[in-house]
Amino acid sequence: MESHRLPFLLVSHLVNIRYLTGFSGSAGLLLFGPRTVILWVDPRYTLQAQEQAAGVEVIEEKGGILKAAASWLRKNGVREASFEASNLTFAHYEHIRKEAGDAVRLTPAGDLIEELRAVKDEGEVEAIRGAGRVTADVFTELLPHIRAGVIEQDLAAEIEYQMRKKGAEGVAFETIVASGVRSAFPHARPSSKPLQECELVIFDLGAILTGYAADMTRTVFLGEPSRRIRSLYSAVLNAQRQAIRSVQDSTPTGAVDSAARRSLAKHQLARYFTHSTGHGVGLEIHERPRLGKGETACLKSGSVVTVEPGIYLEGVGGIRIEDTVLVGSEDVEILTPASKQDWIIS
Ligand code: ZN
Ligand code: ZN
Repeated sequence: MESHRLPFLLVSHLVNIRYLTGFSGSAGLLLFGPRTVILWVDPRYTLQAQEQAAGVEVIEEKGGILKAAASWLRKNGVREASFEASNLTFAHYEHIRKEAGDAVRLTPAGDLIEELRAVKDEGEVEAIRGAGRVTADVFTELLPHIRAGVIEQDLAAEIEYQMRKKGAEGVAFETIVASGVRSAFPHARPSSKPLQECELVIFDLGAILTGYAADMTRTVFLGEPSRRIRSLYSAVLNAQRQAIRSVQDSTPTGAVDSAARRSLAKHQLARYFTHSTGHGVGLEIHERPRLGKGETACLKSGSVVTVEPGIYLEGVGGIRIEDTVLVGSEDVEILTPASKQDWIIS
């Protein structure tokens, strides 16, 4: 805040409030300033906030937390306060502006907290490692139950149930199970379709542990794959390997994306790769940095990102392989260690 010359910052994005204070409730507003850290909550969350947000002044507010924060700014003679431009709605901004009065200048701030969140500390990494382990274990144990006749929705339900059984707080996103031609839709929702022989099936799953997410995709084939399917699978696996190989401290995120694309281009498959190569993972399933075409932000030791090349052929199916990986100073750690070799289910 000093380097951005921000005297006060109103934090309204709940994930950022959690990141800064530990408070995980569904409503609250945080004010950061020199010698001031105040968290306004409604009476549902007073006790929880006091317990979770150690060292923060918690104020219980019955009459609306926006109003309370705004009048605090006015009464304390604050001349300028910044807000999270990407997160505060226009209606809430107007509400604060009216209540704070003309003496308080409200200025938009960039995504300062999101930038901090892009590099994880050891505790955060440990949480994502745990989420990744649960995610990988659930998939590995599901493998013997994947067979023709089983319904996509049932497999998705089983995945989510097993995650909870293994201690996950929930799922980081709606589990994807997409079989046959449906696997060509990168974000298909599980349907009532039964799996059939000679089909590709995409599984995209992720558990949440102590607030942190993991993200993993595996693709399997039921029966004996043709030479064409085998070569498609190994092309995607190779692209993922090349992209992971390029992941290191100080690499531009765009270079990881182009490593995957270059590898697929060797097999004339680049045009079937229709999304970006990956994204940051943490308290949110999609966060900074983005691993896409032309991105110039650099990976840093402590970044946790996904690497997920995929190809989608209309009328045939899709193949995507995704891992959540930790960028180290020297090496890369795969945080979702489920096999990518056991993809043929006969
Ligand atoms: Zn995913
Ligand atoms: Zn992903």
